[in-house]
Amino acid sequence: EGRPLLTALESLIWDVPDYPSPGILFKDITPLLADHDTFTATVQALADAGRDGSGATVVDKVLGMEARGFILAAPVALALGAGFVPVRKAGKLPRETHAVSYALEYGEATLEIHTDAVAPGERVLLVDDVLATGGTIDATRQLVEACGGTVAGVAVLMELSALPGRAAVGALPLTALMTV
Ligand code: AMP
Repeated sequence: EGRPLLTALESLIWDVPDYPSPGILFKDITPLLADHDTFTATVQALADAGRDGSGATVVDKVLGMEARGFILAAPVALALGAGFVPVRKAGKLPRETHAVSYALEYGEATLEIHTDAVAPGERVLLVDDVLATGGTIDATRQLVEACGGTVAGVAVLMELSALPGRAAVGALPLTALMTV
């Protein structure tokens, strides 16, 4: 299972140079999303990050970051029988939020979560497409903790090993389906 999925991911995640700004090699996952078999296998592989050795789900919520994180995290939540939580860019959530500002690989951003999106004591799996500097994951971890929850793990499609994302994840369990 692992080897064919990796081969498929390598052919279906495309490099787009100098997008959205010069010097950035953008990883475009839209070809992967358009391939049903690979999207299905990807969701199953990411969902394994929310299971223990016996296959039991060990998280209460799966959290996705706007916007590509939503696409991956929502089906992972369904696969695990867990709830889905959106973390959104500033000003998009309609009710009371916690907010954290942070630096991106390109630019700066503020992320928000509804204060009641994660209940105190709940265990949360973070899902995103690309782990680059780790700023997004670190900010999201702070949002979960502001709600009183605990991040149980991080699952990404791709880790960019030239950037310090893994250090930002720290001691949290990290699942990366591929490392480039
Ligand atoms: P970071 O916070 O630096 O780890 O960046 C991760 C976030 O930015 C993720 O939500 C990605 O979707 C996006 N991102 C960062 N670098 C890239 C890249 N080279 N290609 C595609 N998306 C990226």
